[in-house]
Amino acid sequence: MKIAIVGGGLMGLVLAQRITASTKATVKVIEQDALPGGLSTYHNYGDFTWDKYYHAITPTDTDLIDFLGEIGLGDQIQWRRSLTGFYENKKFHSVSSSFEFLLFPLLGPIDKMRLAYTILKGSRTDDWKSLEKIHVTDWLIKLGGKKTYDKFWAPMLHAKLGENHKKVSAVFIWTYIKRLFKARSSAAKKEHMAYVNGGYKTIFDRLDEKLKQAGSNLLLNSQVENISVNPEGGINVSYNGTTEHFDKVVFTSPLNVMEKVTSPELYDISKSSKPIDYLGAICLILITKKPITPFYVLNIGDNDTPFTGVIGMSSLVDLEETANQHITYFPKYISHDGELWSKTDEEITATFLEGVKYLYPDFDEADIISSHVHRAFKVQPMQVLNYSEIVPKVKTPHPDFYVLNTSQFVSESVNNNSVVTHVDKFMKSFEKEIKSSLDKNVVG
Ligand SMILES: Cc1cc2nc3c(=O)[nH]c(=O)nc-3n(C[C@H](O)[C@H](O)[C@H](O)COP(=O)(O)OP(=O)(O)OC[C@H]3O[C@@H](n4cnc5c(N)ncnc54)[C@H](O)[C@@H]3O)c2cc1C
Repeated sequence: MKIAIVGGGLMGLVLAQRITASTKATVKVIEQDALPGGLSTYHNYGDFTWDKYYHAITPTDTDLIDFLGEIGLGDQIQWRRSLTGFYENKKFHSVSSSFEFLLFPLLGPIDKMRLAYTILKGSRTDDWKSLEKIHVTDWLIKLGGKKTYDKFWAPMLHAKLGENHKKVSAVFIWTYIKRLFKARSSAAKKEHMAYVNGGYKTIFDRLDEKLKQAGSNLLLNSQVENISVNPEGGINVSYNGTTEHFDKVVFTSPLNVMEKVTSPELYDISKSSKPIDYLGAICLILITKKPITPFYVLNIGDNDTPFTGVIGMSSLVDLEETANQHITYFPKYISHDGELWSKTDEEITATFLEGVKYLYPDFDEADIISSHVHRAFKVQPMQVLNYSEIVPKVKTPHPDFYVLNTSQFVSESVNNNSVVTHVDKFMKSFEKEIKSSLDKNVVG
């Protein structure tokens, strides 16, 4: 049996690994870019290669950690103490342990108790269905009060979603509370995060290698242009000027691509009542001789900076990984119609550098070794009110065509642990379908 996976991001490649490890099907992963990995891919920064966008593993990412173990990379995971900071009124505050949390100067004792209550309530509830009926702002203010919202939650939401945070439901922050604050309730009550030696390149190299060993393959530089029903059974996929027949196809790329390339009888997305909106991200990356920030994540409670957070990757990752150079990411999350998309890399660099100097007045441009601007158009599906009612189903009306992408994360945040969880849930029924089709073929 031949299976095509459209999209060689982490979803497509974890799925390919799962299929080849548990069935006799052969898989072809078709990826448009020159490198595997999609949003989790890597980039050559001159003297070293590291993630194109910042990625860290948290202690609650148990499915991802198990998966890395299964592909033989468990001993490559490096846990480090990580620091989270807040910037408000020209001051930096660390909130990286339960103790620092208690000292957080922007809130008085009563507001801190309300904040603790919100986190406790969030981490103990599993009823995400009722949370998707209320806006995130309303839920947080109801539980923790306006001051806690303004001083603590708003900067965090801003760092993740920019101005668009007002549109999402309480599910968004609930998933965040579950992932990050639960991670801190370990014995040490101090924040820890991890990376894999060599970054995500190590993971994608290993997945490629395993795919080849299983007689399957990953095609790069291959943009899927059309997916249609084959009248004699199965599905046709057209890419690079050729059309190939597959018994089954799993689509893992964003929904706007599906709308473009899929024939209506396979999946008529235009019938869905509300289209799903994605946020994109533009990121300035500075490679410097000196560190810029001691924090892994800095949340900014100040609307004067052109970016929505600062990620000090070198505060987490050992310097030998990055040729003794420091790598810092300055992301801004924006909607598809944001003005920034039309700016050139030079304009973005100039604007963001003003923000860097505003936050860090001692920053010296002479310390910059190189700067890079990366753009990702479809990053974060907007979990608006009643989001679960508008997401596309994994099983489509056609028995051989499936959709498996991050837009289907109704009660998880968009991260790579959720990617593995989503694939594993899918595999429970898909594996049976593949095996029963293979059995039928043998009998037939
Ligand atoms: C700035 C940023 C920071 C992040 N930080 C973290 C983090 O710290 N921890 C974490 O766990 N996660 C993080 N993530 C999220 C993580 O990157 C995603 O969860 C993950 O990469 C989603 O993988 P995917 O395969 O579902 O989607 P994608 O990576 O979007 O993969 C889809 C693939 O489809 C391909 N494609 C599109 N159209 C076509 C076509 N026509 N033909 C063929 N191929 C096509 C694309 O090129 C892409 O490779 C971050 C993401 C961003 C952008």
